[in-house]
Amino acid sequence: MNNLLEIKGLKKYFPIKSGGFGRTTRFVKAVDDVSFEVKEGETLGIVGESGCGKSTTGRSIIQLIEPSEGTVLFQGKDMTKLKGGELRAMRRDLQIIFQDPYASLNPRMTVGAILEEPLIIHGLGSAAERKQRVLEILNIVGLTPHHYNRYPHEFSGGQRQRIGIARALITRPKLIVADEPVSALDVSIQSQILNLMKELQEQFKLTYIFISHDLSVVRHISDRVGVMYLGRLVELADKHELYSNPQHPYTQALLSAVPHPDPRKTPERIILTGDVPSPANPPSGCAFHTRCSACMDICKTERPQMKKTKDGHAVACHLY
Ligand code: SF4
Ligand code: MG
Repeated sequence: MNNLLEIKGLKKYFPIKSGGFGRTTRFVKAVDDVSFEVKEGETLGIVGESGCGKSTTGRSIIQLIEPSEGTVLFQGKDMTKLKGGELRAMRRDLQIIFQDPYASLNPRMTVGAILEEPLIIHGLGSAAERKQRVLEILNIVGLTPHHYNRYPHEFSGGQRQRIGIARALITRPKLIVADEPVSALDVSIQSQILNLMKELQEQFKLTYIFISHDLSVVRHISDRVGVMYLGRLVELADKHELYSNPQHPYTQALLSAVPHPDPRKTPERIILTGDVPSPANPPSGCAFHTRCSACMDICKTERPQMKKTKDGHAVACHLY
């Protein structure tokens, strides 16, 4: 499979306001030197606790926020270098689904108007063609033509996420970043939405970056999974490999908290001690060293780089 997306050395630092003149500005290193590739047609899951930088990574990729450094090659073009019309044209191919569909849908617009908006922005089709396209997409995501004139508040959470998906899909993008798309939904609705996303992927040859704090959800939908901790990617592997043979001590701890379908196979729970350090002041060396039971001297001073440990598996840890 070809790479649709190649991210190299991605950083997003947010300055922290500090009072007075002459003080050095400090930064929250929300994303700190992250590199990975996304293959055409795959789902890459990105997991980690809240605040690990996974949403910021997703938003930096589609240029919803401007990265501080690094390159985002989409079909060979560096998204970070594009401006104005060129960037707008590329955006048609990269869309996002948000966690809370209600907050991201304008309450004063009908569903028809919400779904038509991206087509207008991208200058796609005549008014009649746009309406036709909106009606088609409603059907594709499991809604009906008589939802066209309704308002977001008239829908359930699951239906609202279907509208969010329809809005992302309507420009026929190649890549969709889904940021916690089912986290706000009841468990019974979650699998409906995940299954819908899988069907749409087949039908429209979509590539997904699926961001979630929920390891079970990510396991269900992803082909490969990346694990982030404090703004860094610490492990990346094929799904089955990651879940059966986690190598990074942080991944091992995360997975030990997820019950295995077969209770005899649930690993012994690894309890992480200490709080997640502040991304404004991350530990030196390996950012995980303050909580790692395998910590060695080198871990405190040298930042481990991602290394391939076998085919389809890479980890950033001095143990390997
Ligand atoms: Fe633990 Fe060291 Fe590996 Fe970091 S590099 S995860 S501190 S063993
Ligand atoms: Mg988030």
